[in-house]
Amino acid sequence: MLLQELFGEGPASRADLARTSGLTRVTVSELVAELLAEGLVEELGQPAKAETGGRVGKPPTLVGLVPAAKHILAIDLSVDGQVVGAVLNLAGEVITKDAQPLDGRRGDEAVEMVRVFATELAERATSPVLGIGVASPGVVSPEGVVLDAPNLGWHDVKLAETLSGALGLPVHVANDANTAVLGEYTFGGGTEGGLMLLRLSTGVGAGLVLGGELLHGRGGAAGEIGHVQVVADGEECACGRRGCLETFVAVPRLRRRIAADDLDAAITAAAGHLAGALAPVVATLNLDELVLSGPLDLVEPLAAAVAPLVRDRVMPVSAEQFVVRATALGDNGVLVGATGLVLAAELGVS
Ligand SMILES: [Zn+2]
Repeated sequence: MLLQELFGEGPASRADLARTSGLTRVTVSELVAELLAEGLVEELGQPAKAETGGRVGKPPTLVGLVPAAKHILAIDLSVDGQVVGAVLNLAGEVITKDAQPLDGRRGDEAVEMVRVFATELAERATSPVLGIGVASPGVVSPEGVVLDAPNLGWHDVKLAETLSGALGLPVHVANDANTAVLGEYTFGGGTEGGLMLLRLSTGVGAGLVLGGELLHGRGGAAGEIGHVQVVADGEECACGRRGCLETFVAVPRLRRRIAADDLDAAITAAAGHLAGALAPVVATLNLDELVLSGPLDLVEPLAAAVAPLVRDRVMPVSAEQFVVRATALGDNGVLVGATGLVLAAELGVS
């Protein structure tokens, strides 16, 4: 509770922490002493005079989180043909980043490559490692089993268990769109009410945070909007059907359309199909924000084109204050989100 307060609101005095948490000052002092001993928080001295509100007496000492106290390893498996990873601190800042080509590895070979990559990444951390967060394409169980990721040839792969056993660290695995939405919520200024993140990569998926909670759905497949059919007889899709949303907005497909046509025409067509698929979701859930994550040269123009189209399709009450934007986290959104997975699971902060 105290870490969450310091993480979310920044440095505070022990008295402030007692007030916001409802715990007694004695309890707060004891807990802060434990956190100081662990090196997770530090004393920051007294606030500047202007911030004390003109109260008489000695101003209280502030305590704050130490971002460098622990490092987190983040791995993104959703980038086409690559394994991307980084070492980040507790504030979600990238310390070092690396990428290696998959070179066509699939199945067990891909798992082994991720294990070696994670081991090398762990050696580059300069603070104790809190845990590993992994973003995988496909459907992932809450236990970190990749149930189905066709692009990696993975079915029922116990990724969290394998990596945790090999590295002796806690490992948390989630779908890449879910990871990206957590990152946006935790570090990208995402709002409390309703946030939907649409991730454009090899495929297309969405992650939803409603009332501060990630939505999983019955089978862990909430947000799988990429294979909603948007035209009756369109291009063939990876799922074997025709005319799925993915055939218009997945990154390789969209790039091919831009090359064959031109940027404006391809973006306009993609935006039209996106708006048609997303407007019912925006209206049904009364979302605050729709964030597009993916290559910025694509998601920035797409966000600008989709916004007015969605607004036109929903009632004013749904369109009011509804925001469509590109991710605030640039290319690192998924990695930063994987860090959020570890922070939430290991320290209880989000
Ligand atoms: Zn499909």
